[in-house]
Amino acid sequence: MDLLPISLNIRARACLVVGGGAVAARKAELLMRAGAAVTVVAPALGSELQRHRDGGRLCHRARKFVPEDLAGCALVIGATDDPAVNRDISMRCRQQSIPVNVVDAPALCTFVIPSIVDRSPVVVAVSSAGQSPVLARQLRARIESLIPSSYGRLAVLAGRFRDRVKRRFQDVVERRRFWEEVLQGPVGEMMLAGRERVATLALELALQRGSAAALSRGEVYLVGAGPGDPDLLTFRALRLMQQADAVVYDHLVSPPILDLVRREANRIDVGKKRDRHPIPQEEINRLLVRLARAGNRVLRLKGGDPFIFGRGGEEIAYLAEKGIPFQVVPGITAALGCAAYAGIPLTHRDLAHVCIFVPGHLKEDAELDWHGLARPRQTVVIYMGRHNLEATCGKLVAHGLSGATPAALIQDGTREGQRVVVADLATLPTQAQDAPLDAPTLLIIGEVVRLHRQLAWFEPANTCVPQAGWAAAG
Ligand code: SAH
Repeated sequence: MDLLPISLNIRARACLVVGGGAVAARKAELLMRAGAAVTVVAPALGSELQRHRDGGRLCHRARKFVPEDLAGCALVIGATDDPAVNRDISMRCRQQSIPVNVVDAPALCTFVIPSIVDRSPVVVAVSSAGQSPVLARQLRARIESLIPSSYGRLAVLAGRFRDRVKRRFQDVVERRRFWEEVLQGPVGEMMLAGRERVATLALELALQRGSAAALSRGEVYLVGAGPGDPDLLTFRALRLMQQADAVVYDHLVSPPILDLVRREANRIDVGKKRDRHPIPQEEINRLLVRLARAGNRVLRLKGGDPFIFGRGGEEIAYLAEKGIPFQVVPGITAALGCAAYAGIPLTHRDLAHVCIFVPGHLKEDAELDWHGLARPRQTVVIYMGRHNLEATCGKLVAHGLSGATPAALIQDGTREGQRVVVADLATLPTQAQDAPLDAPTLLIIGEVVRLHRQLAWFEPANTCVPQAGWAAAG
């Protein structure tokens, strides 16, 4: 180990930054975040440091560095663009045993400032001992994505109970086991999901019982898996996918996404394909309750977003009725994913001021408001519209849209097999004749569809397959 990582308490301590530019500002901000009393020495300040000075957050000496500036300093940062001054600062600090860092000059430093993942009070520091700050930053970014943003609040909760837990468990091993159960179990999960009040009650209960093991882990995570490209998952979705005991999914969830679910999880396919025997919604509801009551962390994984034509609302209403804890994680809905990957902006200052999402068919064959859908300057996105494509286009024209209104059909949007057919209301049904019936298919109708020619950027893996090869896409 080249350097020893330590966490330094500089709260209310005098810290000096020499230099007034943007780099000095970054360092001063970091010191202020740790509560230091910061003084900046520089003939002039850049705009960021000026703002901090005007806000009274730091003290400014408007002149060049003089050796007396070091008196009483707990820590010094050299950030001037004059190498001679930087060397002088470094030498004097070392003589006086004041920790010193000179920006971008490892040889002049007695400490380096690591890349930081801040989930205060939890802080992760990554240092390359000054060898490669870029590498340290890249590693930091990867760690950022692994640690939920509310981790700090979990640490604060643990801190609040620390003394009581210590009194309750004199034995160190027992105490550690208790904390492990708490932090990795339901209490930890509730905190990370932002349910602090319930988490506190659960921790209180666990402390009374002397164990957190008795708290049921049973819970349902209603998670949106997005339109198919696994890169479009949220951090939270991925974290819950990797800790689930059981996953209940349907056919819209793409195989590369299922691959990311914890290997040991019990996989249950409740795929609701048209024309095959779907598992009735009531049965899915009961299944979720049964699994959660048995103590499982149940991942209910849905394509797109669970609250957009996904019956997510019905499922959690049932869970709420049965008293099963749940949390909901939004996903990128098909309209947003398909539009982005097909280069079709859904709104546009000249072409579309409104965007409407509608299902291609309604419960008990009720009629959509065709008149409202046929208005100018709006984009209409139709989910589940493949089967009624011809009727849909015909009704929009019958209610006043021109047959020349641009319309696009997007199949397997954001996935390797994505296909886009662009035509207009009059010709789309014929042009899309060969498009498979069972691939997820979205319709986008409106002037914005014209932009596709110019803005399409995504190249699906099988982009070389000729258009005639629709059958291969399914
Ligand atoms: N909850 C989902 C929608 C469920 S309804 C969401 O928010 O996206 C199912 C319909 O979504 C499909 O019939 C299709 O119209 C659309 N859809 C879902 N994923 C799609 C994809 N990758 N490409 C095209 N359409 C998709």
